[in-house]
Amino acid sequence: MHKDVVIVGAGISGIAAGYNLKKSCPNKSFSILEGNSDLR
Ligand SMILES: Cc1cc2nc3c(=O)[nH]c(=O)nc-3n(C[C@H](O)[C@H](O)[C@H](O)COP(=O)(O)OP(=O)(O)OC[C@H]3O[C@@H](n4cnc5c(N)ncnc54)[C@H](O)[C@@H]3O)c2cc1C
Repeated sequence: MHKDVVIVGAGISGIAAGYNLKKSCPNKSFSILEGNSDLR
């Protein structure tokens, strides 16, 4: 599926990137990819 933006990593930087995309570019679609399956 097409996404305008792909964010690699769901650390604080990735979460902040998603937050700011939603806030500043609400029409852009995005996915956050996280490689660590053991996130808590
Ligand atoms: C031992 C330790 C203790 C710390 N203690 C503190 C503290 O007390 N207070 C504080 O403010 N800061 C602390 N820090 C620093 C803080 O953890 C980092 O500054 C902060 O986590 C950086 O956030 P980030 O999103 O840039 O990177 P990260 O938190 O490292 O997130 C990156 C994410 O990307 C994922 N990733 C990486 N490569 C890929 C890939 N190819 N594909 C998919 N996913 C990928 C990783 O799994 C990770 O989840 C500490 C750091 C360490 C190592």
